[in-house]
Amino acid sequence: MTVLSPFEGLGEREQAIFASADALARGALAEAEAMPGDSAGEQHLRAAAQAAGLFDLAQRPERETLLSLVVVRERLAATGARRRHAALGPSPGLLQQASPALQARFGQPVMAGLKRQAFAFTDDPRAPVMATPAPGGFRLSGRKSFVTGGQRADHFLVYAKSPEGPLMLVVEADAPGVNRDDFFETLDGGQHCALVLDEAFVPDAQSLGAPGQGQRQAFDQINRTRLTLAAEAVGLMAYAIDRAASHLQAQRPDGTRLADREGTQLRFAELWMAVFTARSTLYRVAQQFAGTGPGAPEALSALKVLASETAERVLSGALQLCGAQALRSDDPLTRCYREVRSWQFAEGASDVLRLSIAKARLEKGRGAL
Ligand SMILES: Cc1cc2nc3c(=O)[nH]c(=O)nc-3n(C[C@H](O)[C@H](O)[C@H](O)COP(=O)(O)OP(=O)(O)OC[C@H]3O[C@@H](n4cnc5c(N)ncnc54)[C@H](O)[C@@H]3O)c2cc1C
Repeated sequence: MTVLSPFEGLGEREQAIFASADALARGALAEAEAMPGDSAGEQHLRAAAQAAGLFDLAQRPERETLLSLVVVRERLAATGARRRHAALGPSPGLLQQASPALQARFGQPVMAGLKRQAFAFTDDPRAPVMATPAPGGFRLSGRKSFVTGGQRADHFLVYAKSPEGPLMLVVEADAPGVNRDDFFETLDGGQHCALVLDEAFVPDAQSLGAPGQGQRQAFDQINRTRLTLAAEAVGLMAYAIDRAASHLQAQRPDGTRLADREGTQLRFAELWMAVFTARSTLYRVAQQFAGTGPGAPEALSALKVLASETAERVLSGALQLCGAQALRSDDPLTRCYREVRSWQFAEGASDVLRLSIAKARLEKGRGAL
């Protein structure tokens, strides 16, 4: 049972995408989740997603696919299933806009699942990564402190500052001067490491653009991820609402139902209203970013803060309504609670995004409501 229906105002194309994602969620994803062993379950889901024409949605460069991606990520997350990520093929990220040579060498093997890539943006403040021009390329030195999937990556998309401005470069994991250390796991189960660069040479051909373009390129990628992360957050909140509703509606051993008490009804309504607001904001901003205009970055920042902070509150509130049995560490509700906490940091800490919203209105004359 899910409370999600296609968001009103979606065009025919997205309504059809919702119907496909809904069928996948009820069919292959439910089956995959019940299968023993990750690889068989993921393979089953991947095949079904390919047959439904959803698998490559995250791999397409066109802006308008962003809205479809939001629809799918939200609907699959509303199952609370942990294997849902296997339904979407690996995205080459920024390489979608790279030269044909870079796409062929690095992007296509990522999409085909033959190579892994990681995004290295966050600097260790004690040693930010600097790119010094050298004959035929750049020498990179410094340390990135938080690289998701870095341990198994074949190459990294690295943000570096150079004397002529920031740039993004493809850095191969086995190149001389490229090392990894500080392997760690976060609350949500994500695996990360630090990337250490010591005079690592990167040829000009592996630069994604000219010095000075790096910040815009990096934020194109970060903005896209902020949007899809908000879609996941809303989906997991919808799952939490369903779980809370089922628990409240179930008959207790003494024949009563928690759903008949006003105290629990009030608490439930608070959660529902928060998800309703977050979902409305998600689609308002998604439609902006998938449209023809550039979209307002402050709207995306507001969405990301709202969705991630509301998700923590809603998941926690749903756990409280479902009782202590739901706190079992193998319960999907508890797993989703662990998952959403990190989203107040990933793709920009909430406070930093709040500051960027204030600056947009107070200093840059933007921030239309
Ligand atoms: C699950 C997860 C995955 C991630 N994956 C990646 C990845 O793949 N690649 C990557 O590059 N990075 C990744 N990150 C790192 C992420 O981008 C950073 O955690 C995030 O940008 C915040 O930086 P920080 O953790 O260094 O916090 P800090 O900058 O140390 O900030 C800590 C706190 O200080 C406050 N603060 C910080 N700056 C200001 C300011 N200017 N004014 C006022 N208050 C401020 C805020 O309250 C903030 O929460 C990931 C993080 C998480 C949690």
